[in-house]
Amino acid sequence: MSLDPYKTLGVDTKAKPEDIKKAYRKLARKFHPDLNPGSKEAEAKFKELSEAYDILSDPAKKSEYDNLGKDAFYQSGFGGTGYKRPNFETGEFPWADMFNDILGGGARSSRKSAGGGGFSFGQNFSFGQKPKKGPNIDYSLELDFRSAVNGTDVTLEKDVPEICSRCSGQGVVASGAGVKSCPVCAGQGKTVGHQTLKARIPAGVSDGQVIRLKGQGGAGENGGGNGDLLIKVTVLPDKVFTRQNQDLYVEQPVSLYECLLGGWMEVPTLNGQSNLKVPAGTQNGQKFRIKGHGVPAVGQKKAGDLYITVKVSLPGKLSYEAVELVKKLSQSAPVKFEI
Ligand SMILES: [Zn+2]
Repeated sequence: MSLDPYKTLGVDTKAKPEDIKKAYRKLARKFHPDLNPGSKEAEAKFKELSEAYDILSDPAKKSEYDNLGKDAFYQSGFGGTGYKRPNFETGEFPWADMFNDILGGGARSSRKSAGGGGFSFGQNFSFGQKPKKGPNIDYSLELDFRSAVNGTDVTLEKDVPEICSRCSGQGVVASGAGVKSCPVCAGQGKTVGHQTLKARIPAGVSDGQVIRLKGQGGAGENGGGNGDLLIKVTVLPDKVFTRQNQDLYVEQPVSLYECLLGGWMEVPTLNGQSNLKVPAGTQNGQKFRIKGHGVPAVGQKKAGDLYITVKVSLPGKLSYEAVELVKKLSQSAPVKFEI
């Protein structure tokens, strides 16, 4: 089941981080299982709230949700793993300590409380071997402009730290009666593995955006789960279009005569050419808009518009005859400047 975290927490999509935190604290206090012993509804509600907060309190996840929309965010199509819910069984989620606060001083729910008082649900808190999440891995990806706008499939090659298979991460191996440093990982317990990974880059990614592929980072320890792969996207400039948020801009040369008399211009769009009327008397720098022809709609973002700025093109060197005609024209239709 996938939820809308904004609806779940009852906050606006533009809510600030502190408002999101406030909304979560208020609701989490109301539905916390320790304060609602035995209530399955409260427990379910609490899990939903925590999941919503997990998404909205993490800038990368939030941006991903906003950009992809609910379905794509939860589905496995993107990056292959989809969204992983906070693990209540291990108490392993970043804001677990917040409950000290929520429940007042003598909090029972803390992953630090040995023996696992913990939440009333999920009795199998295991504190012996502390689960350790694998490291996140940063990845730089360069995309050409059109691929970023339209979305694309990419194959990523990455080096990932792996637990050494020879020594199972211990750094030592048996040697006679004792142990010796592991020859494969030189005692580090880790080796570098090479992986290729196919990922779908969603349409509309922007320069500098970070895409998180859950669980595609370094390996975790003691069941702590893998880290994430953080793909930082650099979008290369385009020859034709420039982009601002969801809108695209293009400069369009139009002949002086068409600007004066009216006519048509053939403007580039993402899907080919489009014919646009040039009204008589069009000025240099005048802007036209084609609605919905900017960056396509994705996630919470609507499709942008395409703005065309007219750039008047003058004829080349004038003949004697042409000069006389232009002189006549300038007398018959003088240019007036508005001050
Ligand atoms: Zn080793």
